[in-house]
Amino acid sequence: MTRRHVVVLSGGMDSTTLLSVVLRRYANGDTSLVDAISFNYNQRHQLELTCAIKTTAILGIRHRIIPLTFLPSLAVASSLTSDKPVPEGHYADENMKQTVVPGRNTLFLATALAYTEGQLQNGDTAIIYYGAHSGDHSIYPDCRPRFVDSMRATIAAASDDRINLFAPFLHTDKAGILRQGIEFDVDYSNTLTCYNGTRPACGRCGSCVERLMAFDATGMTDPLDYADRETYKQFAP
Ligand SMILES: [Zn+2]
Repeated sequence: MTRRHVVVLSGGMDSTTLLSVVLRRYANGDTSLVDAISFNYNQRHQLELTCAIKTTAILGIRHRIIPLTFLPSLAVASSLTSDKPVPEGHYADENMKQTVVPGRNTLFLATALAYTEGQLQNGDTAIIYYGAHSGDHSIYPDCRPRFVDSMRATIAAASDDRINLFAPFLHTDKAGILRQGIEFDVDYSNTLTCYNGTRPACGRCGSCVERLMAFDATGMTDPLDYADRETYKQFAP
């Protein structure tokens, strides 16, 4: 009987940190017990999948990219899956709601459940890890504790209690995640956060602003190149 660990990995800094935390803290460094899964939903920031491929190759972790490319045909109003411009500014701004992709994380976790059940042998159990964090709560309903609790119950019921859901960063902010990543030597130069998906990163979208503020809060310098490294400072507390 084995306990497996399945990490939903976007290629951004939160889930990339989560992967290292799970491998080192929960799987005791045993890569054979860990799977990473990513989703191709024709996101604007496809480069994140390239980061996910590289990270899992370096860590020696099995990685599967699952196509969910029908999502943009449903989520037509989101700037992350359409041609609509990505709003600039802080997550607290009302216009950041344009970056919500309806149903995305419900679909991701249901798909993670299907994948994980397929990996289990008789008597095995598994934990699915999801990188939602407290900074997401105000904008994204599918990153809030209520959603995570309900998906945990759904996944447990659907798997006859063989599979659990754990979101260890749910009450941690981005700076707190970063501090854990530093402890586990995460290479943040191989993560993509910018919603525009560009290199250099834009530095102006809500995602870039939050990331740069988190680096500031920890006293670290973000190793990424940015087109604009000044604008985010106007949101500093
Ligand atoms: Zn950006």
